[in-house]
Amino acid sequence: MSNMPQHNGKNGGAPAGGPAIAAAGRTKEIIRKHGFTFKKSLGQNFLIDGNILDKIIAAAGLDGTKGALEIGPGIGALTERLAQAAGTVVALEIDNRLIPILEDVMSPYGNVNVVHADVLKTDLRRVWADYFADVSGVSVVANLPYYVTTPIVMKLLEEKLPVDRIVVMVQKEVAERMAAKPGGKDYGSLSIAVQYYCEPELVASVPSGAFVPAPNVDSAVIRLTKRAAPAVSVPDEDRFFRVVHAAFAQRRKTIANNLAAISGKERKAELTALLAEIGIAPERRAETLSLEEFARLDAALAAAEMKA
Ligand code: SAM
Repeated sequence: MSNMPQHNGKNGGAPAGGPAIAAAGRTKEIIRKHGFTFKKSLGQNFLIDGNILDKIIAAAGLDGTKGALEIGPGIGALTERLAQAAGTVVALEIDNRLIPILEDVMSPYGNVNVVHADVLKTDLRRVWADYFADVSGVSVVANLPYYVTTPIVMKLLEEKLPVDRIVVMVQKEVAERMAAKPGGKDYGSLSIAVQYYCEPELVASVPSGAFVPAPNVDSAVIRLTKRAAPAVSVPDEDRFFRVVHAAFAQRRKTIANNLAAISGKERKAELTALLAEIGIAPERRAETLSLEEFARLDAALAAAEMKA
């Protein structure tokens, strides 16, 4: 990490004078000054709405003893607010053209560390060790690039990082899938993965006019509060999630048919009996099963030595 560009200093961000970076006029000025052009392929839609930033910051639960990890700072609209709210900020940005801009606009803040990196290729445990050793807790706070939302959120969850909460702007439809309860079309393996580790809450709906350029989808801010322990206890998480994926393989098929496709058609009768035995009607669809029912199903399949 030591060879990565960064700002020095850790604590005590001083507020800058003049308009906030998110003020539409200031954003335009920064973009013009540096001759910046947006890259759609990197999901670059910058926030220009201070009220939305207020809601994100309020949901993030920060204070001067806490750390904030931002993914994709852009030109720093959210970074600036994090610098004012947290003790230490680390901002990982993939686009090298934004690094000198961030160094310029973040110069009033001694507690911001700008790192040129692709979050998906970054050893986040190193980030924690290098920057967050002394903080009392860390929130991940970001306006995520939409083309990689799910891999980023899954990385944060599966790597079991010491995160208190994740407050992220995502495509509205993705926020709805993360927070969905069993029984609807939004409920699927993403809902189960998120809810296994976290409690989701929708914080705000965000219209496309809150960004430049305006994206062609609606957005939402969601808060994922990390649970002290996973929502259900499973002996082998990889296996549990394989069962979940198998159950949702073809949404219109029954749970018995989806599972038979994995464990072998010759075991369909055995599978049907097993489902009935654990109180799950074989003709149900995966989208109706709660986390507890998936955990029960996983345990029964493991006991019967069925493939998942
Ligand atoms: N935080 C800024 C804001 O709210 O105005 C910018 C948000 S913009 C939606 C997403 C940002 O993520 C862009 O700056 C983009 O360059 C950056 N980005 C895209 N892919 C990334 C990746 N894999 N790792 C780190 N940053 C990434």
